[in-house]
Amino acid sequence: MSAIHLRNLVKRFGAFTALKTMDLDIADGEFMAILGPSGCGKSTTMNMIAGLEEPSSGSIHFSDRDMAGVPMGKRNVGFVFQNYAIFTHMTVRQNLAYGPTMQRAQTAEVNKKVAEMADFLQLTELLDRKADKLSVNILQRVAIGRSAILKPAIFLLDEPLSNVDAAFRAVMRTELKQLQRQFKQTMVYVTHDQLEAMTMADRIAVMDHGVLQQVGTPLEVYNNPVNTFVATFIGSPGMNLVKGTPTETKQGLRINLGAIGKSPILPPALASNLKSRNSEVWYGFRPENITVGTKADDLSLPITFTERIGARTIVHLGEGLSMKAVFDNETPVTVGKTLNFTLKPEHVLLFDGTSGVRIGMEAAHG
Ligand code: ATP
Repeated sequence: MSAIHLRNLVKRFGAFTALKTMDLDIADGEFMAILGPSGCGKSTTMNMIAGLEEPSSGSIHFSDRDMAGVPMGKRNVGFVFQNYAIFTHMTVRQNLAYGPTMQRAQTAEVNKKVAEMADFLQLTELLDRKADKLSVNILQRVAIGRSAILKPAIFLLDEPLSNVDAAFRAVMRTELKQLQRQFKQTMVYVTHDQLEAMTMADRIAVMDHGVLQQVGTPLEVYNNPVNTFVATFIGSPGMNLVKGTPTETKQGLRINLGAIGKSPILPPALASNLKSRNSEVWYGFRPENITVGTKADDLSLPITFTERIGARTIVHLGEGLSMKAVFDNETPVTVGKTLNFTLKPEHVLLFDGTSGVRIGMEAAHG
């Protein structure tokens, strides 16, 4: 069992800084997802936790033990990569038995562990099959089993499901979560897929361009994104953002959203956070919080495209605006028609028009 503490962690490759001053605490037994787009520094962070890369500066502690100079083999970490690292000339049984055998466990003990892990990962029927004859899906399951069988204090998974097919990915999301619940390891899971992070993690560390943007539970980062990056990266589809300027009307403060119309009246709490009434803001709302409107002063946009995905319909709005609404499949929507819509005040977030930082959270964002 082990907590992980990253302090002022920096990684430079020559003149390029891949990770800029990261502070992160991962609790003992926590499932932390490190989420962000390609190249944002996720793997670099993970490799430093694993001991594959040395930090340029800053520290990594496992509970109260400083990891500076401690090689990977002495860190009690299990590591699973995107490309399953297993021995293809061996059987599934030999692959699973490899770690415990290297640790000089007794044969009976090895057999017991292999049987347990095979049962857990539904590999029992395949134990005597050669790995080179197995599908990518099964190979990744074997790779996870091979690492998990050693019950490392910390389990590190770097995009382990990105090469497997969609149906299997859904199954493995559940299995990995169960694996962690059963063995109670500290789990760090690198992914660029927000759905994986949202469905599995206790907390998510969202990164962009080598900078940690926000750490929170899946619902915290969904409901309270600190900036426009997190707002659009979390959610499928992400949050709608429209540039606008505050405008005083008889009924109260609204945001003028140009061709879309004027926003509903801002609730007093949101209006009072606006330091300047003259600066542009990003007006943010989630596609699933759009309500079909009826009033003359509703917002409006043309429907340009619809995606019917079973229970939900994703409706694309406006030309080149990347705006979307999500409705159930009963709501009538016709491409080419105008959608009049409205929003509840509690579903609106405002972000600084220049920095993208959430208005009212500037101090928290540093
Ligand atoms: P991906 O999902 O594409 O792997 P990532 O978020 O894991 O993305 P990293 O692999 O951590 O990103 O890379 C972060 C940045 O550091 C990238 O711009 C990458 O090109 C750069 N980088 C990583 N390793 C090295 C290296 N050994 N030498 C130089 N640059 C590197």
